[in-house]
Amino acid sequence: MPKHVKDLAVKGKKVFVRTDYNVPLDAEGQVSDDFRIRASLPTIEHLLKEGAAVILASHLGRPKGVVVPEMSLAPVAQILAELVHADVLFAPDCVGDEVVALAADLEPGQILLLENLRFHAAETSNDPDFSRELSTLADIYVNDAFGTAHRAHASNVGMAAHFQEKAAGFLLMQEIDFLVKAIEAPRRPFTVVLGGSKVSGKIDLLKRLAEIADNILIGGGMAFTFLAAPPLNHNVGSSLVEEDRLKFASDVIDLCLKKGVNLVLPSDCIAGREISENADSLELPIRALEDDLMGLDIGGRTIESFKNILDISKTVLWNGPMGVFEMTPFQEGTLAVARKLQEITKNGATTIVGGGDSAAALKKFKLDGCVTHTSTGGGASLELLSGISLPAFEALKGTK
Ligand code: AMP
Repeated sequence: MPKHVKDLAVKGKKVFVRTDYNVPLDAEGQVSDDFRIRASLPTIEHLLKEGAAVILASHLGRPKGVVVPEMSLAPVAQILAELVHADVLFAPDCVGDEVVALAADLEPGQILLLENLRFHAAETSNDPDFSRELSTLADIYVNDAFGTAHRAHASNVGMAAHFQEKAAGFLLMQEIDFLVKAIEAPRRPFTVVLGGSKVSGKIDLLKRLAEIADNILIGGGMAFTFLAAPPLNHNVGSSLVEEDRLKFASDVIDLCLKKGVNLVLPSDCIAGREISENADSLELPIRALEDDLMGLDIGGRTIESFKNILDISKTVLWNGPMGVFEMTPFQEGTLAVARKLQEITKNGATTIVGGGDSAAALKKFKLDGCVTHTSTGGGASLELLSGISLPAFEALKGTK
C-alpha cells in the first residue's frame, strides 16, 4: 500500500494535491453539484491543520488541450473558499512563470488552486516535461483524485515519479478501502445489483463477481441480453440486446450455476414503445413482451424478489440503474432498490454504490448519504472492482 497523507511530515512544506474537481456546471457556468469538492475537504483540512501550503490541481471536462473558458476551475475556487472558510488563490494556468511565482510565495495555511490541467494536451498524454514542470511547484505529492485513478496522466502518474515524499489522500484511501474490502472480504450474504444499459462495460466485473458473490441481481437494459441468451432464449421484443454479448451472457449464467451463485434476472418489466417522459407504460411478464415493446424498468414482481434478497444481505454492491430512471414512468425499480439500500444500511448492512449513474439516481431521489459508501468515480470503481490495478494508485507506491 502507498503511504496515507496523515503519515507524512508536511509542516512548512508545499504539498501538491491532485484532486477531482470534475464537477457538473449549469447553464450559467456555476457548479451545480459540489459533492466532489466536499469529498476533497478531509485531505485539504488535514494539510492546513498540519501547517502545509496546499497547491490543488484538477481537470474539468474535456477541453482537449485548448483553453475553454467555460471549463475554467474558477467557480470551484469560490465554492472551495466558502467550504474551507479561507481564501483560495486562483492561478491563471497550471504551469509557467506566473504559476511558479504564485507557488513560491505560498505560505503555510494558504491554498492555491491551479487552472484546468487539461487545457494542456500534455496532461492526458502523460508528457514527461509537463510532469516535471508540475512537480517543481511542490515538495510533496498527494493524489486524492479517485475519479481519474484508472488513467495514466501527467498529474496523477507521471508526476509521482519526481517525488520522494508522496501519498494517497483521505478520499483515495477511503475509496480503495471500501471497494477492495467489499470484494476481498465481504460480510455475507454478499449481493451485487447490476444494471445500466450495457453488458459491454461490465464484462470483467461480471466475470469476477460470478466467482465471489452470493447473489447477483441484474436489472436495467443489460438484463435483456441475459434473458435473450441461451439457455433462456426469451423473446424480449425491442428491448436493448447486445447480440455480440449473448455468448458472454450464456457463459456468465453457466459460471453462476457452477459456482452456486444465485443469479436473478427480471421476471417482469415496465415496458414502453418510446423512451420519453410522457410515454405510455405497461407492466407485464417478460414472456409477454411484443415485438414493438421495450422493457425500460423492472416490474413489481422483480422488485419484490430483489427486495427479499437485499433484506437478508450483509454487503451490497450496486452498480447501474434498474431502468431508465431519468424518466418518471421508468424510475420505480431504481427508486425501490435505492430505498431498500437505505433501509438495510440503517439495519447494519454495508452498502456500496459504484458511482456513475447509480450515484446520480441516489441524488435524484434525495437518498445520497443513505448508503455506507458512494464512490466518486464510475470508471475507476468499475476497474478496481473488476480486479484491475489503478495506475495512479500504483504510481504512489514507487520510489523516486
Ligand atoms: P450505463 O452507462 O451502462 O451504466 O447505463 C446507464 C443508462 O442505462 C441510464 O442512462 C439508463 O437510462 C439506461 N437504462 C437503464 N435501463 C435501461 C433499459 N431497460 N433500456 C434502455 N436503457 C436503460
